[in-house]
Amino acid sequence: MRKFGGERLARTAAQGMLVRGERIRAPRLFPMKHHPHFPRSGLVARLALAVILGFSAAWLAAAGTTVKVTVLSTTDLHGRVYPVDYYTGKAAEVGLAKIATLVQRERKDDPDLLLIDCGDTIQGTPMVYYHNRRHNEPTDPMMLAMNSLRYDAMVPGNHEYNFGLAVLQKARSEASFPWLSANTIAKSTGKPAYDPYLVKEVRGVRIGILGLTTPGIPRWEDPEHYAGLEFLETVGVAEKYVRILREQEHVDAVVVAMHMGIDGDPALVEPASPLRPAAENAALAIARQVPGIDLILMAHTHRTVSALSANGVLLTQAGYWGNHLVKAELFFAQEESGGWKLQAKSARAQPVHAGIPADEAILALIRPYHDEAQAWLDTKIGVSARALDAREGSLRDTALIDLIQRVQLETGQADVSLAANYNRSAFIPEGDVTVRDIAAIYVYENTLYVVEITGAQLKAALEHAAGFFLPYEPGRTPAQLMNPEIPAYNFDMAAGVSYEIDLRRAPGDRIRNLVFKGEPLAPGRKLRLAINNYRYNGGGGYTMLKGAPVLMRSGAEIRDLIIDWVTKNKTIPAEPDNNWRIVH
Ligand SMILES: [Zn+2]
Repeated sequence: MRKFGGERLARTAAQGMLVRGERIRAPRLFPMKHHPHFPRSGLVARLALAVILGFSAAWLAAAGTTVKVTVLSTTDLHGRVYPVDYYTGKAAEVGLAKIATLVQRERKDDPDLLLIDCGDTIQGTPMVYYHNRRHNEPTDPMMLAMNSLRYDAMVPGNHEYNFGLAVLQKARSEASFPWLSANTIAKSTGKPAYDPYLVKEVRGVRIGILGLTTPGIPRWEDPEHYAGLEFLETVGVAEKYVRILREQEHVDAVVVAMHMGIDGDPALVEPASPLRPAAENAALAIARQVPGIDLILMAHTHRTVSALSANGVLLTQAGYWGNHLVKAELFFAQEESGGWKLQAKSARAQPVHAGIPADEAILALIRPYHDEAQAWLDTKIGVSARALDAREGSLRDTALIDLIQRVQLETGQADVSLAANYNRSAFIPEGDVTVRDIAAIYVYENTLYVVEITGAQLKAALEHAAGFFLPYEPGRTPAQLMNPEIPAYNFDMAAGVSYEIDLRRAPGDRIRNLVFKGEPLAPGRKLRLAINNYRYNGGGGYTMLKGAPVLMRSGAEIRDLIIDWVTKNKTIPAEPDNNWRIVH
């Protein structure tokens, strides 16, 4: 796999560009390799499309009254309704409009089905960005579409917090279904800030749906975006509420909808680290440790998981951006006592593809939001003397990353700036440049921080970044040495200093010739450093920057600062300043 490290990272950047603080990987099922950290008996990965547990034709034939409950799930929609890539304008086989067609088909078979979204819903495209930041008065477009599709519940994900609590609460208030999160606690009351669960009765069968949110939010988000809230570790919370559902609500089955998934490949499970916090994705821990769960709807990691079984719990995950719809089926038989017993269960992630038409009613409902965003994206704001792209933006200094750095340095009146290659497929054409072209450079809703650090802290940050590359092996190119486990957005490059990354040296000792204003950078030298809020809050394991004194903060997103800069300056500098390079 390392051999294809560069290629894998490319796919990661292209497919997972709008998530962060999350394990991102090209969606696929788990390999069935045995691994010491992952006893085979504990996790049976089925590569078949569906898994059916305890199910037999004999049972069906012998059964008296039986009921099938269908549970559909979407997740990590990230603001996608129209089947389009807003950064390129090209068609994309994603979005709620196509999912809607699949949901309508399923409803024909089972009008009583349950429909649940597992979060990261209201953030992630220019359409929802425009709505949330520039024209927030109308109803949230995602809630509008989901109300129309008659969702039963959704779980707030980490990205629901990106625009602050006012935007979040407005969207929540506009949903005609509850947002569920048992582990999100209002500090003022000590009680859950959302409904912890929902009980739905389907043809006499009681289904408990418990919501859980990844507790990693404070590691990525600005504190005022979750003011007054606390995110508890999820295993204990799941235990408490599954017991309530079983013993007090007397449900016949428990479904846990969680904005969490499974960390990493089972074959690659490592101890927790700042880059891989243990609690961020607790799906497997919950399946193994909490008794009484039948089905887990996963999220957050952008994987597609048709069906996994762990400790008798069925786990499934609907990919991201509406590229899959999960269909789980629970089969119940009535007992002598009149109660219902779950006899069998199955799940499958159905792919969205070109052959599935977008639902016209959903398209019409969302068209005003879509058109408004498209008009904004088409606005011409500057010119570029040549075509620029970000394909090799983590391997050498490029004019595109320098544009981000320049805006950060100027806006923050900073000495040094750190930024990464946030979208490997960003492309600036020669000639007229639109908002769309610029927005594609910076796909996150980050804001700018200027903090005071020392030369030693900057060196430590650059050493941490240089750990993006694997230990040196002669004959391998820098592209081949990129660690596919670390997303490109966590490889920071600096402007305002010059330096070399010597890949032949051990990680932690790779930064050479670090120079500031013509002199070697002294460890005690104080610097004004421009970074984004994600980095300031400790995202990507840059712990050396956490808690640095804040000298300035921008209210606006960095993307908007870049758009403003190009609008004002008109011409995009076409040449990089080549202040850093890789030596190998
Ligand atoms: Zn997430």
